[in-house]
Amino acid sequence: MDLVETLKRRRIAGALIVVLCLTTAFVESLAAQGKRNRTGKNASEQLAPADYRSKNFLIHTDLPPDEARDLLERLEKMLVIISTYWGSPNRRVIECYVVKDLANWPPGSLHPAGFRSIAGGGGVTMSQTTYRGRQIVAAKSIVYATASRGTPQHEAVHAYCAQNFGRTGPVWYSEGMAEMGNNWKVVPKKGQPLSVSCERYVIDYIKRSEPKSLNEIVNSRETTGDSWQNYCWRWALCHLLATNPNYAPRFRPLGLGLLMNKPASFNKTYGSMAREISFEYLFFLKHFDQGYRCDLCQWDWKTKFRKPNSVRPLTSKIEANQGWQASRTLVEAGIEYQFSADGEWKTSSDAERVTANGDDAGQGTLVGVILLENENDEYELSDEFELGETGRFQAPATGKLFLRCRDDWHELADNSGKISVKISE
Ligand SMILES: [Zn+2]
Repeated sequence: MDLVETLKRRRIAGALIVVLCLTTAFVESLAAQGKRNRTGKNASEQLAPADYRSKNFLIHTDLPPDEARDLLERLEKMLVIISTYWGSPNRRVIECYVVKDLANWPPGSLHPAGFRSIAGGGGVTMSQTTYRGRQIVAAKSIVYATASRGTPQHEAVHAYCAQNFGRTGPVWYSEGMAEMGNNWKVVPKKGQPLSVSCERYVIDYIKRSEPKSLNEIVNSRETTGDSWQNYCWRWALCHLLATNPNYAPRFRPLGLGLLMNKPASFNKTYGSMAREISFEYLFFLKHFDQGYRCDLCQWDWKTKFRKPNSVRPLTSKIEANQGWQASRTLVEAGIEYQFSADGEWKTSSDAERVTANGDDAGQGTLVGVILLENENDEYELSDEFELGETGRFQAPATGKLFLRCRDDWHELADNSGKISVKISE
């Protein structure tokens, strides 16, 4: 939701005080689009602020007690996830002012910057960090947030980063990860990858927009409170990098480097894989939805491909629960190839088993696509074409043939079975 801006840096008794200010104005602009209808106040809304505590949080809030305790529980769960992710236990209680209705707060009870952010429909995290030399000796963050739309969770990620690392990183990282924290609603079982779980408007916005380039996201000088749209792109990039196994192993050290002010940058980390990331980023934007799993749809850049011939057909195993998979076959535009597919698979846990011909609706059909490199040296995909159990196909382009079991992209996880595919000329 927000953007980090250093408001003040001044020396006081040898201590450097950094105030990180985050404001969000988009929440209300969304609400203004007509979703929320304002009802008259009832007695339950007029609550004096009270304090609630848990292991890592102290919240002052006018939320009803059950909602306040719910929020604490969600914040604690999220903190387990993020502190596990960054490998650093939270060192200090995170204090939050969570406001349902500003009318419940006596004048002067909120910091003016906090009041302004909340009135604008968002939140702010203010952090005071004390250094000795370059070493952080103390850090304390205070969150001011509206109670709605995951704002407390988002701000709490900033607070955790500021308290534990002394900074929250560059805008794209800080805000992208804060949005991820907001979307991390359940503690994943060990090793269980994260599926897409974000607000509907994020998906709708990205699907109807021209993709924003990676370079624009990470290298442009975007500033605080810019636009809710920019938060969507930052989240999308961070989600992809954190959950696609092709990029995730480098993403965590990159993030830690940024948080600890080491000489780390997106370009240094991913420069050598720029073409691959760019391709997978655009692919993700096109196909993601609630439940989409970047790990299942990661692109196979390693498998070697070669031309098939009539004596030596190329065989590959295609899993029902994954995205495009390497057939190991290099194809040439206009040439006809012969294929046969052996086995059965299912496109959901309660679906019937089908062969590579799929069901009557076309679900479960074996389909193909060609990965090629265009004149700009970028990776590109041909149109998808149907294969099935056996037959011949004419390659629509020259390149690497990838195969998959047709199913909605965000519903691959519950598929099962695999099919063995043979291709010859
Ligand atoms: Zn933020």
